[in-house]
Amino acid sequence: MNLQFNDSSITVAVVGCGGFIGCHLLDAILTRTKWRVFGVDLDFYRIQHRLNDERCEFMVADLADKSVVERIAKYPIVVNLAAICVPSRYMAEAPEVIRSNYDHPAALADACAKSGSWLIHFSTSEIYGRTSADSGLLVEDESELTFGPVMASRWSYATAKLLTERYIAGLQNLKWTVVRPFNFVGPFMDFMPGVDGSGIPRVLANFSSALVRGEPLKLVNGGVAKRSFTSVFDAVDFMFALFEACDVAFSQAFNIGNPDNELTIAELANKMCKIFAEIKGVSVETIPEPEVVSGVEYYGEGYEDSMRRLPSVEKAERLLGFKAKTPIDVVLRESLTWFVNHYGCEIN
Ligand code: UDP
Repeated sequence: MNLQFNDSSITVAVVGCGGFIGCHLLDAILTRTKWRVFGVDLDFYRIQHRLNDERCEFMVADLADKSVVERIAKYPIVVNLAAICVPSRYMAEAPEVIRSNYDHPAALADACAKSGSWLIHFSTSEIYGRTSADSGLLVEDESELTFGPVMASRWSYATAKLLTERYIAGLQNLKWTVVRPFNFVGPFMDFMPGVDGSGIPRVLANFSSALVRGEPLKLVNGGVAKRSFTSVFDAVDFMFALFEACDVAFSQAFNIGNPDNELTIAELANKMCKIFAEIKGVSVETIPEPEVVSGVEYYGEGYEDSMRRLPSVEKAERLLGFKAKTPIDVVLRESLTWFVNHYGCEIN
């Protein structure tokens, strides 16, 4: 496959183009290439400024619709970002989470295998499962994957995503690449419970919401779990490295992460309180102290955690020449500034 960024005959289908990652990817494709985009989503408010772009065609639909799946698979490159990925739903709505993260993407993979499209499927770093505090680097083709017991429905999302990876990898004739995001952060990570819907979103949206509401940040089980946070702009750069390399990326799974940005959740909370105080020009003492909550009380029965998620990024560097570069303080400031401007603020 030979993909030239100035080739205006190429159309890339982006499923989930109106979401947090999709909106950034769409902007980058339209500014860095001459490609066209066929965008599918249920909600387009993050991409209002692109709706009349003559290089785009948008469709309000999801992958549950078979005719939409066939249509998407007509394009030579298909990026699938669509998924239910609200953590509290993994416990409360496991069957729906599994349908969204296995049945629908598997149908898309079948259609791409038939049409010959290159499927770039967004999986999750959660497929590395119930890691312990002393887990080392998570390596794409080596790490052991361990999940909790069947009653721990926290793992409904991860097992569905992993099954999709295995399904994709097993399909004859499919050109595929799987990517595993490690805690992406950035502008438009904007789910505020009570405003945009219900449920408990990812930690950054939760902490940002609490800060703008003047409420204490909640540290689940003491906030001792560790995550490595990755700028969504680095993730977009990764996608361009993938497009450029294409042939070497076929039949490969890649971590997209930044191991230099590892923090415990308690450290993240402290950093976000400090940055928020600076943005608002107030003393950090005016920000409520974080509070410890139990995971099961907070998320519901069946919650378990990964204690550490540290990505190996050697493969992306070796095969694609890609390395994430945005430091944690920069990405947190960027995200939080955007969040405060977007939602306003209840404390001054
Ligand atoms: N977490 C927390 N407070 C919150 C939200 C999340 O302490 O308000 C913790 C959660 O228990 C986990 C980590 O932050 O240890 C990251 O959670 P997230 O929901 O962002 O997704 P994950 O990385 O587990 O997929």
